[in-house]
Amino acid sequence: MNNQTQNKVIKDVMHVGEMASGAQLTVPVYKFTAQGATDAPSVYIQANMHGAEVQGNAVIYQLLELIGNIELFADVTLVPYANPVGCNHKNGEYTLGRFDPITGVNWNRMYHNNPKLVDVAVEQYIEESDREIEQAFKQSLLDDINEQLDHNIFGLTTGQRIAYQLQKLAHQADLVLDLHTGPISSKHLYCPEYAKESAKHFNIEHTLLIPNEFDGALDESTFCPWWSLSEAFKAKGRCINFNKESFTVELGSQEQIDLDIALTDAKSILCYLQYKGVVKPNGQQDFVPDEMIRYACYLKDYKAFYSPMGGMVDYLAEFGKPLKAGEPLARILRMDNYGDGDALHYISLDHEVLPILHFASASVNQGTELYKVFSEFFTL
Ligand code: ZN
Repeated sequence: MNNQTQNKVIKDVMHVGEMASGAQLTVPVYKFTAQGATDAPSVYIQANMHGAEVQGNAVIYQLLELIGNIELFADVTLVPYANPVGCNHKNGEYTLGRFDPITGVNWNRMYHNNPKLVDVAVEQYIEESDREIEQAFKQSLLDDINEQLDHNIFGLTTGQRIAYQLQKLAHQADLVLDLHTGPISSKHLYCPEYAKESAKHFNIEHTLLIPNEFDGALDESTFCPWWSLSEAFKAKGRCINFNKESFTVELGSQEQIDLDIALTDAKSILCYLQYKGVVKPNGQQDFVPDEMIRYACYLKDYKAFYSPMGGMVDYLAEFGKPLKAGEPLARILRMDNYGDGDALHYISLDHEVLPILHFASASVNQGTELYKVFSEFFTL
């Protein structure tokens, strides 16, 4: 039995800004359209908002290859190279691109949130059906972002203009995935607390559960309004599940493209999309998550460990394996002390942690963020 479908992808080029020379800043947008009308949630996936975090582009490549032959019940939009400034921001061999070089602001802290829209919606739509509320609120999010883009008399920064146009695409979807990487890192997922069941459908061992607090990132800019809206209706005695979910997917380490791992990660995303009813299961191409121990941690317990001293670091702790109290996280070499002091310093913590990522360079200053760890963790 071979009922292979061929989804046709449509490519668009979105204009997101201009360089001093007049060169256009553009972002490619690939869109698959659902086969037939269904209630399945639509999907938006972008990659490479931070310049060095390139692996998401390879995952989008694999998704394009796979989705072409899968039956789809909802629209899927894929945006690689989401930040055309960031991925071109090189210094020597390295890609920078975490911060706008002009303003110093993190590229993933420039999205927009307007809490007033929730107050207006609760007041105006309390008599409407769930579906009508959803549609009206979605439209108000889009109108608001258009207002920012087109009628802001004082203008926007380069980063805001890029971010808002991406956010406009994201607001049109129900499920949003923002593909990032850490510096040197394990795979981990930023997941809103209410969506933790969904975290079990990705092949990702580590999940950070995040609260309803907007800090400028794409995932927050798309789930916080809906979370706040459902809380506001709950306060009025009405429970509505809008079925909106957004995640930041940390795919591993920066400055790396691995197409084989990208295929695995694309299939992991399809496991989640099949769970949400976007992708039709069909035996041969069933996307089912692997059995694994999934560790979770609340954002408040996700701790950065700052180097107590300058020096050269030998990173010892493995990612994703609980590290017992007193076991070494790293050892720091200080050759200036050899012979008349301590040349080697072992660094450890006083309680068990789960190491998730570490700094990308072996040379650190006192106060450099050495490791990030789940300080309190549990299994999902
Ligand atoms: Zn990032």
